[in-house]
Amino acid sequence: MKVLCLALVTALLATSCGHLPSTTRPPAVSATDTRQPEGTSERTVQTGWQGRKFAVATAHPLASEAGVALLRAGGTAIDAAIGAQMVLGLVEPQSSGVGGGAFLLYHDGRATVAFDGRETAPASVDERLFIKADGKAMAFHEAVVGGRAVGVPGVVRMLEMAHAEYGRLPWASLFEPAIRLAEDGFPVGQRLHTLLSTDPHLRKDAAAAAYFYDQDGQPLAVGHLLRNPELASVLRRIAREGSQALYTGEIAQAIVDKVQRHPDNPGQLSMADMTAYRPQRRTPLCSSYMPDKVVPRRAYLICGFPPPSSGAIATAQILGIMNQTEAASLPFSDPLWMHYYTEAARLAFADRAQYVADPDFVAAPAGSWKSLIGPDYLAARARLIGPQSMRVASPGRPSPDSAAHSPMPEQVEYGTSHLSVVDGDGNALAMTSTIEDAFGARQMVRGFLLNNQLSDFSFTPTDERGVPVANRVEPGKRPRSSMNPTLVFDKETGEMVISAGSPGGALIIHYTTKLLYATLNWGLAPQPAIDLPNFGSLNGPTLLEEGRFAPSFIEALRARGHEVQEVGMSSGLQAIAKDRNGYTGGADPRREGRVLGE
Ligand code: GLU
Repeated sequence: MKVLCLALVTALLATSCGHLPSTTRPPAVSATDTRQPEGTSERTVQTGWQGRKFAVATAHPLASEAGVALLRAGGTAIDAAIGAQMVLGLVEPQSSGVGGGAFLLYHDGRATVAFDGRETAPASVDERLFIKADGKAMAFHEAVVGGRAVGVPGVVRMLEMAHAEYGRLPWASLFEPAIRLAEDGFPVGQRLHTLLSTDPHLRKDAAAAAYFYDQDGQPLAVGHLLRNPELASVLRRIAREGSQALYTGEIAQAIVDKVQRHPDNPGQLSMADMTAYRPQRRTPLCSSYMPDKVVPRRAYLICGFPPPSSGAIATAQILGIMNQTEAASLPFSDPLWMHYYTEAARLAFADRAQYVADPDFVAAPAGSWKSLIGPDYLAARARLIGPQSMRVASPGRPSPDSAAHSPMPEQVEYGTSHLSVVDGDGNALAMTSTIEDAFGARQMVRGFLLNNQLSDFSFTPTDERGVPVANRVEPGKRPRSSMNPTLVFDKETGEMVISAGSPGGALIIHYTTKLLYATLNWGLAPQPAIDLPNFGSLNGPTLLEEGRFAPSFIEALRARGHEVQEVGMSSGLQAIAKDRNGYTGGADPRREGRVLGE
């Protein structure tokens, strides 16, 4: 702890250890906040983790244990991530599972690759999927609960693709920890219990009601030993037959029936959509970053997920724009630092709304996504920041044809899990995995929940003038994401220095960027960096984590023209960092994650 305090002090972070610019601690349990993915649950004590050989950081101790067991058995980071993901789908069903999608970044010591397991829209949908008969867009949960927003799941096929290339242990063996837990039972955790208690929709699905609630309709108690034999049998089949057990045949048919036969909100997912699903291998989006004013000077390469995710572009923009301001001379406790951060965030979110969508459907401005993160472009964007808040930023124009689309209105996004792994050979992985909202579409099939990922598309296809939104619904398209699995490398040596990511809807971008800024600029280890209060802007109000910032701090921002809103922010950061002493890891105290390893 002393080392961390020292790091804080030397980094001029005038918050000192654990005493951030806050007056009170956040409430232990808060009601579901309208903006908050999954709502908040009890905070856990996270002490951080150190080791030398390998590390697994996931959102649940049982998933981290499964990953560690597979690494001990000689598996690669990919093997461990697959085993951990299967356990997460069982013990943290509100966030991810075989009915959802994921983005995975992997570095094998030489190259970094991006595996895209994003859900896709069925072939028969059109851009009016979320428009009602009266011409108005549906309310979020009106669209989400049922079959309408269910996209073709992507995570299993994506993991199979990654395993074929980078796995070492037999595919079937990776499912053993999850199958065992599903058959023997696992204790219901506090977070699952809290979310079951507050969710008004899940119990409407008979299969989910029978699994998650007792005969009196009460959510299963904390510690209840929950068995899921149906999921165990699905996992056994995927283990034996590969992903086709999920995408063809009777399990796929059960998914399709559930979607199409929903009594009041059916969807259009078909067997043909299931069979046609293909994960994509993409080139990660990497940007150079040399934090200003940090001695010794050190250059990094920050690699993140390219479109259809908006994560890497937004993070590179925020860090790049911040670097053009005097922010690097300021401590976190200075409201001026927060002014610069949230102004940079506004500029980044304006571009995100304007440009980012599935690259197979929408061209990047000036022919390359890099046009949005080039140093000259970011310097020009930074010059728009003045002493007073701009409140709402307009998108930049990296090329003359940049006006082909209209900006997408900001929408809610929810419910996800992040895991980071480094194996004994130094291979590094960052994967963020999701069924979108907490408990997804609230449709349970064979022991797992279906995603509602299509609600990450713009509900409105055009603006009032009829100009299309880049991220509108189209057949076979992948919805834009905010997921931000990130690997950072020392630019000179090529060594991995950080693997990180978070759930949290659009705020994922801010949670992850906070972690990167605090580790790279202020020299914090992952745990104290994760513990910092959260903040951000989605190009509207300045958002601060409830109860973590002093009234004088908030007043100073208001004096600069910020509309400040204090909101519950349930980040779920997981991170592993490497330095000359080995690995350090951190998990978010706002959830129940755990870093384990040797
Ligand atoms: N569906 C969101 C996305 O893909 C993630 C939701 C969340 O983490 O809460 O960006």
